[in-house]
Amino acid sequence: MELRTVGVLGTGQMGAGIAQVAAEAGLSVLMADINIEIAEKGKAGIAGRLAKAVEKGKIDAARREQVLALLRPVASVAAFEDADIAIEAATENIDLKLRLFKGMDDACPDRAILASNTSSISITLMAAATKRPHRTIGMHFMNPVPVMKLVEIIRGLQTDDETCAAVKALAERLGKTWVSAKDAPGFVVNRILTPMLNEAFYVLMEGLGTPEDIDNGVRLGLNHPMGPLALADLIGLDTILAICEVLHEQLGEDKYRPCPLLRKYVEAGWLGRKTGRGVYKYS
Ligand code: NAD
Repeated sequence: MELRTVGVLGTGQMGAGIAQVAAEAGLSVLMADINIEIAEKGKAGIAGRLAKAVEKGKIDAARREQVLALLRPVASVAAFEDADIAIEAATENIDLKLRLFKGMDDACPDRAILASNTSSISITLMAAATKRPHRTIGMHFMNPVPVMKLVEIIRGLQTDDETCAAVKALAERLGKTWVSAKDAPGFVVNRILTPMLNEAFYVLMEGLGTPEDIDNGVRLGLNHPMGPLALADLIGLDTILAICEVLHEQLGEDKYRPCPLLRKYVEAGWLGRKTGRGVYKYS
């Protein structure tokens, strides 16, 4: 099944990134969020990134226009009536995602695949909220989407082989490498990454080092490209807390308990780069 039109629901940092790589691969993209203004903001962010790529000589102005012409912000998911696949990339919250999956199921044609970019939430549960559980799947992109090579593909209990093959082919068309992961909290990547990021907040809370000491220690000592606190600011502290909560609740082990300092930062609205302040300040 060839996929030509992609609907992206949630046009924050991940949704906009997914929309960008889909348009760069020549696919038509519908971008929806809470309202059209937010969807337009998502497209404006892509336009800005592509303008920088033109300035740096990485692409020419005609290529920028070609990609932007394939991106259409829409007022709501109702516009997904011609989508071959809808990819949900909204805030990491189970109740919200169940509601959005019902909406995508109602709006999309019967042939369409419904995918989620969730970091941790059960694909099987989202599939069960639709009338097409066999055509529902997890497509977990990494941040920033245009840069990172990996897509983790997660089959729900109900997902059929045709759907799995179609999204693997789509990931390859987007220039990505895929790995398969079972549908368990956090799948593979976040089962490993999130406890490490959470531990970095415990290390900070216990005063074992400054943010710079912790990040430089991991960067230079473990050869990671970014320190865990800087990475947490990039991902979004609200998203990390939400993933920790899913791991803690569903795996039931104390080792996944969200760090109280992480929770405090989220309560303060210090969500990282996207709000201008997280562990570090951004201007
Ligand atoms: P974000 O905060 O940048 O964007 C979330 C978007 O969802 C916002 O634009 C928001 O307006 C939108 N949204 C909220 N309620 C909505 C609704 N009712 N209808 C439509 N849109 C709605 O978050 P993000 O970092 O882009 O994360 C989005 C998803 O991607 C989450 O499930 C997250 O776990 C996952 N993810 C994030 C990362 C990361 O590094 N940030 C990596 C992989 C996957």
